[in-house]
Amino acid sequence: MSSFRNQYIDINKWTRPGIKNNGVKKLAVHYTANPGASAANHYRYFGQTLPAQNRNLSEKKQTFASAHIFVDRIEAICIIPLNEVAYHANDVQQFVNGQPYRGVAALKPNANFLSIGVELCIEKDGTFHPDTIARAEQVCAELCKMYKLDPINDIVRHYDITHKICPAPWVSRSQGFTDFKARVNKRMAGTVVTVPVVSNSAVTHTDTGRFIKNTVVAKDGLVLRTQRSAGSSMVLTLPNGTIVKYQLGSTVKGWGYIEYTNSKGQTFHGYVNVSYIKSDNELKSSGKKKAAVKSKTSNKPKFPLPDGVFKVTNPLTRGAAVKQIQSALAALYFYPDKGAPNNGIDSVYGPKTANAVKRFQLMNGLTSDGIYGQETRHKILHLLR
Ligand SMILES: [Zn+2]
Repeated sequence: MSSFRNQYIDINKWTRPGIKNNGVKKLAVHYTANPGASAANHYRYFGQTLPAQNRNLSEKKQTFASAHIFVDRIEAICIIPLNEVAYHANDVQQFVNGQPYRGVAALKPNANFLSIGVELCIEKDGTFHPDTIARAEQVCAELCKMYKLDPINDIVRHYDITHKICPAPWVSRSQGFTDFKARVNKRMAGTVVTVPVVSNSAVTHTDTGRFIKNTVVAKDGLVLRTQRSAGSSMVLTLPNGTIVKYQLGSTVKGWGYIEYTNSKGQTFHGYVNVSYIKSDNELKSSGKKKAAVKSKTSNKPKFPLPDGVFKVTNPLTRGAAVKQIQSALAALYFYPDKGAPNNGIDSVYGPKTANAVKRFQLMNGLTSDGIYGQETRHKILHLLR
């Protein structure tokens, strides 16, 4: 039985050009960089959402992207036939002697024609779930057998090809990738392997100050990095409201050292921009102040959005507030009813609007319940800003 199932997206110029590749020399592994989104979410994103978005954009602003196989905790889906090109590893991150950097000679000139792209989904906290890793190992073992590849030499990171920080968890900690390949090798030999829970250890920090409890107050999450620099590798993204431990006195040029333990008990260390963390007391007081200022100086946003919670009710909720939600979602190409009159913007919060909200939430790493609330409101406002 195959470790993945085929569910191909339709041919379109942005994500599945329908061009035959030139054989498979390597497997390129990626991470989705989309916290909380599943393999099925990405099937829909590359099959429908992204092409629909591109259709409404000028040529210059269109995005060409995809990969063959998406892996999450529960399944792996192949969305592009393995003998076709996907747009996953021919990006330009830097130039060397006037040429785009290309680190894997066997994949020159264009890795998209010579490799299969395997994407690992990430959890809401930016980490790989051990089950996702285990499934990706099965997928890679199967592909290595299929194409007569050697896991140790023929599985490469996107980073190795173009220097893109992908998959970020295995760029900041390359041992994780080395271990992954070794386990693929064992699986090919029929050995039963288990994936250990490993916490990040790429940061070498030697101060011994006291830690205090702190809270992330970055709306779109705060990136934890391996060094005191926005250019250093990303460890993971800490969602707004995450409790972290900040080391007193560790801030240098705005970057402080923190410790974070996720729900699986993995502990991560690294540096954050300290303007996005606050002690609980500070958070409370500045929250009040901000609210007071806001009412005075509110400048009208292009797509005003209501506060409060909106969902399918009996009878259905209707009115100007619902229309605001529908219009804002439509501006992001999440239409209540694409093709219907006014694309379904009818001021009624019915099942189709709930579905548009749900699709939006799915693609943005939110709880996808089709209920509009503060979290969804913030995300929409941010994207339309
Ligand atoms: Zn990648």
